[in-house]
Amino acid sequence: MADQIKFLLDEEHLPKSWYNLQADLPQPAAPVLHPGTGQPIGPADLEPLFALELIGQEVSQERHIDIPEPVREVYRRWRPSPLYRARALEQHLQTPARLYYKYEGVSPTGSHKPNTAVAQAFYNKAQGINRLTTETGAGQWGSSLAFAGSLFDMEIEVYMVKVSFNQKPYRKAMMETFGATCIASPSDTTESGRAILAHQPDSSGSLGIAISEAVERAAQQDDTKYALGSVLNHVLMHQTIIGIEAQKQMEMTGDYPDVVVGCTGGGSNFAGLVFPFIGNKLRGEQSSRIVAVEPAACPSLTKGSFAYDFGDTGQLTPLVKMHTLGSTFVPPAFHAGGLRYHGMAPLVSHLAALGEIEASAYQQLECFEAGVIFGRTEGIIPAPEATHAVKGAITEALRCKEEGKAEVILFNLCGHGHFDMQAYTDYFAGKLTNHSYDESELAMALAGLPSVAAQ
Ligand SMILES: *Cc1c(COP(=O)(O)O)cnc(C)c1O
Repeated sequence: MADQIKFLLDEEHLPKSWYNLQADLPQPAAPVLHPGTGQPIGPADLEPLFALELIGQEVSQERHIDIPEPVREVYRRWRPSPLYRARALEQHLQTPARLYYKYEGVSPTGSHKPNTAVAQAFYNKAQGINRLTTETGAGQWGSSLAFAGSLFDMEIEVYMVKVSFNQKPYRKAMMETFGATCIASPSDTTESGRAILAHQPDSSGSLGIAISEAVERAAQQDDTKYALGSVLNHVLMHQTIIGIEAQKQMEMTGDYPDVVVGCTGGGSNFAGLVFPFIGNKLRGEQSSRIVAVEPAACPSLTKGSFAYDFGDTGQLTPLVKMHTLGSTFVPPAFHAGGLRYHGMAPLVSHLAALGEIEASAYQQLECFEAGVIFGRTEGIIPAPEATHAVKGAITEALRCKEEGKAEVILFNLCGHGHFDMQAYTDYFAGKLTNHSYDESELAMALAGLPSVAAQ
């Protein structure tokens, strides 16, 4: 009899709480600092930008935080998401490893992003906020917040990185369908945008620039708050629903992962899958190797400094300690737009510094090659970002083949690529290249890191 390949959880097993890794850390992550005073910030500093509940979650030390029932109600539209055993891919690779993937592309916008978009919209609405601003790279986050905004009857204003705005017009159409406004960034609607354009009129934009524009807009208006799609502790925590479900589904398979793999832009889909497994490890229960995969053209974990830096290019945000390429670094315009961020989530960076996770970086072409293999075997076309996780998992599976080891590998297929087919078209036409970042630009961006007194 053929092995089972699909593991579905009943709706009654939809998690009731998120997992907060901060409760299990052997030492806490470094505090967030005020850029003016260099002192740790307090909740009052964040209130102009974020709902109170979200600020509380940012610093909470509680291991489990209840998911509000209205949020679970929305999650039920597509959750629990499926876990698959990649039998066809295993056979193609001729590997003794057993490969599993959690598939987040079943959400209304095709990625993991609605897991936090819905929660953030809910908490803001509950506080009487009716308007949110945000940034988006490839458009996954913007369309997810637009979707959440339509459910909770909120106005959503999205600054979309210009290169993706031009490459992915359907994402803008999706945001508009959900009732949101989408503006190409850098734009002339903000001071931060105008400053970039004055200096570089043909700027392709970056997440760091788009964040500055969205933060500036929210800070200027009392009735408007800001939503971030990755990086922050509360965002990573909302995503842990992925890993909590995956743990229950791995129990159904009878396997426990030896290796867990995810791609990292700001770190949220990776954290979402791996944090519950890292929690098991930190509590001395069960242990896995944890591997983060990033693009070689924007390698914050493998090439960045672990230092205090701004979250945005316009230097409007507080200072966070993270792996960073420097807030002024503008990554080359490769297709995995969701991975073009200069920094890495502070919690993911902290785990890397503690030696709890490993990091690897791959080039654009080898990732698309892996994405095509995955499409032809498993029948799902991965988002360009997700091809990095596929590449990382295939690398592990081939290592197992070489070493003759039947290890269990789990990875996060964080989104499908249906809105990214231009990237695949370019790949097949031989138009995609491996981008390398400008070494002197990186050196300059790193030299410009803010200096912070030792904490
Ligand atoms: C946004 C996005 C990413 C990158 O963001 P993370 O916070 O690192 O997860 C990766 N994959 C997909 C499909 C995305 O939409």
